Amino acid sequence: MNRITVVGASLAGLRAVQALRREEFDGEVTLIGAETHLPYNRPPLSKSVLRGDDDVTLPGAEELGDHWLRGRRAAALDTADKIVTLDDGSEIGYDGLVIATGARPKRLAEHPAGVHTLRTIEDSLALRAELEGGPRQVVVIGGGFIGGEVASTARSLGHQVTLIDSAPHPMLATVGSDTALWLAAHHRRNGVELVSGVRAIGFEGETRVEGVRLSNGVTVPADLVIAGMGVVPNTEWLAGSGLTVEDGVVCEPTLYAKGSTDVVAAGDVARWPHGLYGDSLVRVEHWATANDQGAVAALNLLAGPENAKPYADLPSYATHVHGARIQTAGLPHLADEVRVLAGSVEEDSFAVGFARDGRLVGAVAVNAPKELIRLKRRVVAGEAL
Ligand SMILES: Cc1cc2nc3c(=O)[nH]c(=O)nc-3n(C[C@H](O)[C@H](O)[C@H](O)COP(=O)(O)OP(=O)(O)OC[C@H]3O[C@@H](n4cnc5c(N)ncnc54)[C@H](O)[C@@H]3O)c2cc1C
Repeated sequence: MNRITVVGASLAGLRAVQALRREEFDGEVTLIGAETHLPYNRPPLSKSVLRGDDDVTLPGAEELGDHWLRGRRAAALDTADKIVTLDDGSEIGYDGLVIATGARPKRLAEHPAGVHTLRTIEDSLALRAELEGGPRQVVVIGGGFIGGEVASTARSLGHQVTLIDSAPHPMLATVGSDTALWLAAHHRRNGVELVSGVRAIGFEGETRVEGVRLSNGVTVPADLVIAGMGVVPNTEWLAGSGLTVEDGVVCEPTLYAKGSTDVVAAGDVARWPHGLYGDSLVRVEHWATANDQGAVAALNLLAGPENAKPYADLPSYATHVHGARIQTAGLPHLADEVRVLAGSVEEDSFAVGFARDGRLVGAVAVNAPKELIRLKRRVVAGEAL
């Protein structure tokens, strides 16, 4: 293999390039990235950056030097002739291809001024400028990880915050009912007005947002809105490539694109059969998964499909909401049985085990990091609940 092309210059793409260098791959590596910055860390964008800390450094990013195409977008892929076509019509060939184009926020049809999504450093700085502009009526749409963090940060900066979530309680599907009920109470205790079980369907306001219209006919007043309604994988450029694209690039357990011998995918864009979960197809939007998969996918490309190793690390995520640490591991949403295994919900410190067919498939911990470490081991071992 003489030439490896990596599309997407963020966490997974960077880790792929670094892995190739570590393996002393002596062919040509071309990295194509739509953003103009060095690869940076996204988790601080909904946390410390909003509070004024600009550090989003991703270790190793500086090693890229200038040997990559910044501000350039892949527009099409021809897997027969092994060519990536860029947005200016130029063509980049490859012997091996790493797809690491991540995901972008979902949007309601049109976003007037004052409605923000959060994915890039520009998004975060624009939101920060608004949050610094004095007390506001902030509406957060979506109570998932990012929505919860933004609601928490906005409260700590002194804003009025309404959190709208379509589920009966925020994060119900991700963390189960014990934690979701606790989280709803935690938001309320910290001054967030919670509106659950309704969807945001549009916005009021001519030149700037003045309210959020809900599916129950109510309009919530707003002068600043953050839409955290989940993401969609960036796969449009793969149309017509012959790759299987269904909510991400569908891969083999080794992260080779399904049926391909020279294309791999990694990070938020990859959907693969997870060995710990009976080969159910999963797409994970977590930092650690993108970090690890970038390297694994690149090394598997070098090894070839015959010698490639499956990727089956446990997904895990940590978030802070109003000072509480919430951690998840595995895939709690697959469970048919749930039990609080340690601590107590009333004391804001507990761990929950999630099982399917009697075996642990996931865990959630609130202010109980040591319990999560123990439970992670038990999930990996497939122990009984
Ligand atoms: C605000 C925020 C907070 C987060 N907090 C946490 C957290 O606390 N913990 C956690 O585990 N995870 C967190 N995450 C998720 C984590 O950041 C992602 O899982 C990770 O960034 C995924 O990396 P990636 O390289 O797969 O994709 P991305 O980071 O999405 O990068 C994809 C890159 O590809 C580029 N691209 C897209 N299309 C093309 C194209 N056609 N051509 C060329 N380039 C293209 C994009 O511009 C982008 O630079 C957070 C994410 C956000 C947005």
